[in-house]
Amino acid sequence: MVQRFNPAVLTVGIIGGSIVGCTLAAELARLGCRVRLFERSGEALKDRGAGIGVPESVMATFATQGLIDASLPHFPAPAFLRIWKTPAAPRFGRLAWTQPAKLAALNWGALYRNLRARVPPGVYQIRQQVVALTESVPGEVLLDFADGHQEAFDLVICADGYASLGRQTLFPEVQLNYAGYVLWRGSLPEAALDESPPLEVGIRAVGYPGGHGIFYFVPGADDSVRPGDRLVNWGVYVQIPAAELPAFMTDREGRRHEASLPPGMMPPATERALKDRLAQHFPDYYTRILETSEQTYAYAIFDCQVPAYRRGRICLAGDAGAYARPHTGAGALKGIADAVALGKALAEAGDLEEALGRWDAERTAANNELVRFGNQLGEAFVTRIPDWSTMDAAAMEAWFSAAVTIPSEYLLARA
Ligand SMILES: Cc1cc2nc3c(=O)[nH]c(=O)nc-3n(C[C@H](O)[C@H](O)[C@H](O)COP(=O)(O)OP(=O)(O)OC[C@H]3O[C@@H](n4cnc5c(N)ncnc54)[C@H](O)[C@@H]3O)c2cc1C
Repeated sequence: MVQRFNPAVLTVGIIGGSIVGCTLAAELARLGCRVRLFERSGEALKDRGAGIGVPESVMATFATQGLIDASLPHFPAPAFLRIWKTPAAPRFGRLAWTQPAKLAALNWGALYRNLRARVPPGVYQIRQQVVALTESVPGEVLLDFADGHQEAFDLVICADGYASLGRQTLFPEVQLNYAGYVLWRGSLPEAALDESPPLEVGIRAVGYPGGHGIFYFVPGADDSVRPGDRLVNWGVYVQIPAAELPAFMTDREGRRHEASLPPGMMPPATERALKDRLAQHFPDYYTRILETSEQTYAYAIFDCQVPAYRRGRICLAGDAGAYARPHTGAGALKGIADAVALGKALAEAGDLEEALGRWDAERTAANNELVRFGNQLGEAFVTRIPDWSTMDAAAMEAWFSAAVTIPSEYLLARA
């Protein structure tokens, strides 16, 4: 009989208590590891209030594995309806292509709460910022905290997001690449819409010279999926040259942000300029959604690949590893998959080195490929988007197949 390694002997430190940190904590505690999770922010539960699109099949698998509730409120999104404003279709735009997809639209906060609820009591430590991590003795990782204390672990996993301290520590040569555009986001209660039917079923993707915007329903307050209670979630990709990014990322109080302008902090002049720029290109129905949304916010879009997911006893997971552009619709579930795969490798391997080695090779290859997929999508749908106004479904499919060559189960089923 094959002798299996017993993960229960491990002490594990997790940096970051968002989607991926919580999944890691739940999975590794399930194996019997002695887990501690450190989250720098103060709130035990937080809500970004944003909608996300995730692959339906992966969500179903995670529900089967008991990671999320099967009843997690969401809407199936079986297609992207690709639209362009034309003189003949000023209000809703002309439908160029109904591109099949297998996505589910849900609230980021509902997914987070589901995962957070699976972290065993006593594991999640709030207001604990890690400021340094070192493996000075092989097999022992020391974490230094902002309050001056230090803790030692057999294994540390960095789930500390796109600007990861862990990634900077392991691979200081890896830089985040600015994609040349931002995602301007907002939401609107369904009750504020002129009419709901134009947004029923699927994700509306409105193309324009310079990028595109997506619009779809997500569950509303208290996770309600009832018509009338839903929330319109939207995001528009807008090109902002790198030289102009610092000014764009300066908030209404004059503070400069690296990568995102929080809700309500965009200067009125910046927001007005975005609305005016897009009103020229967006069908009236969608222009009105942008006009009437309040507390809008923006993210600069970055990406990076990584040479590996571990060095010694320090691992990366989620956005802390390879960082994909949001077009992939895969950020959240890619990170959850990192955590599930690590649990599986630890449960099945003969020893820790074998488990980490196998997991590293698998996640590095899969996630770097996802970054390349996101970059192809970004070029196709933002920086080199063609004029869809006269393209029919066959032309759209031919263009997409030539522009996006990396196959993916994550996002887009080919027509
Ligand atoms: C604009 C945009 C749109 C997106 N759309 C989608 C989508 O449609 N579908 C999808 O699947 N994904 C989407 N994503 C991606 C998704 O939100 C992320 O992939 C996911 O939240 C990553 O989770 P994470 O746990 O790796 O990192 P994060 O959610 O970034 O969390 C990192 C955590 O670590 C903590 N932390 C950081 N440093 C330290 C430290 N030194 N010490 C202690 N704690 C620390 C932070 O406070 C934070 O809580 C989108 C992302 C963006 C930016």
